[in-house]
Amino acid sequence: MLGTVLYGPRDVRFEERDIPKIVKPTDAIIRLSATCICGSDLWPYRGIQAVAQPTPMGHEYCGIVEEVGREVRNIKPSQFVVGSFAISDNTCVICRDGYQSSCLQREFMTSAQASLVRVPLADGTLVATRDLPPKELIPSLLATSDVLGTGWFAADAANVKPGSTVVVVGDGAVGLLGVLSAKQMGAERIIAMSRHESRQKLAREFGATDIVTERGDEGVARIKELNNGVGADSVLECVGTQESMMQAIKSTRPGGYMSYVGVPHGVSLDGEQLFFAEVHLHGGPAPVRRYLPELIKLVLNEKINPGKVFDLTLPLDHVAEGYRAMDERRAIKTLLRP
Ligand SMILES: [Zn+2]
Repeated sequence: MLGTVLYGPRDVRFEERDIPKIVKPTDAIIRLSATCICGSDLWPYRGIQAVAQPTPMGHEYCGIVEEVGREVRNIKPSQFVVGSFAISDNTCVICRDGYQSSCLQREFMTSAQASLVRVPLADGTLVATRDLPPKELIPSLLATSDVLGTGWFAADAANVKPGSTVVVVGDGAVGLLGVLSAKQMGAERIIAMSRHESRQKLAREFGATDIVTERGDEGVARIKELNNGVGADSVLECVGTQESMMQAIKSTRPGGYMSYVGVPHGVSLDGEQLFFAEVHLHGGPAPVRRYLPELIKLVLNEKINPGKVFDLTLPLDHVAEGYRAMDERRAIKTLLRP
């Protein structure tokens, strides 16, 4: 079997790998219907996050169950399933509280940019659909696995409610789906911070009412100008840099909510600034598993079309070009067809 391995900065190879097998009785093997490249894959790809050894890549996945271990009860061969990028038992005290991405048995998914993948803790991690979904819904179902689940968590953690004023910092796929999520949750005004025309267009399509192109303190001033001199009720930080974190905190009104779902790189926060900002902060790796049943239902009922973030589709063996296109911002997100 061929799979994707990152050897070092900008060195992605599609090469021969062992066929995944059941290792533990709670595992399942999935034949992927589609997989994709995540914005977070770009951190090691760009060398910002060191790669110590050749690393199998890919953590967003959906497909058909090939085989299950002898202790798997709910997931069955031939079912179509979607799983979270975080492996969880969905039964421990943390999972029951809705934080499956910090499950006591958590592992992070890997190796999914391939044609077959092993999913540990299959009963807890995977959600099966009743029937095989139509082909045209596969991209949107794949999106629920991470990028939509993360955007949804960003909106939920930022307390988006009917009538809220929302700011989304970051116009990557997660930020754009944060806009879609805020719209679904009934936000009245959604301000997307973006400088890229094609992304602004998609943000508007997903429900953004305003676009702010300024960044940093200028961006914050523009947000306040649009909002009677104060920050927004809810701000979603979907990048993970020092500048974007500060822009998000300063764009939140006192008493408001700021969520952060971009994996932070080199971010440090000043205690005094936090103290006087007086905002609720909540973020982390999104507990996608909590939202999967609801998100899958919204996709199957064609209420949302998050698959639109995939503006490049390539055969899986062209994966290296998929990384290049996202790195150079020629593509928002690359879908890979095994
Ligand atoms: Zn758990």
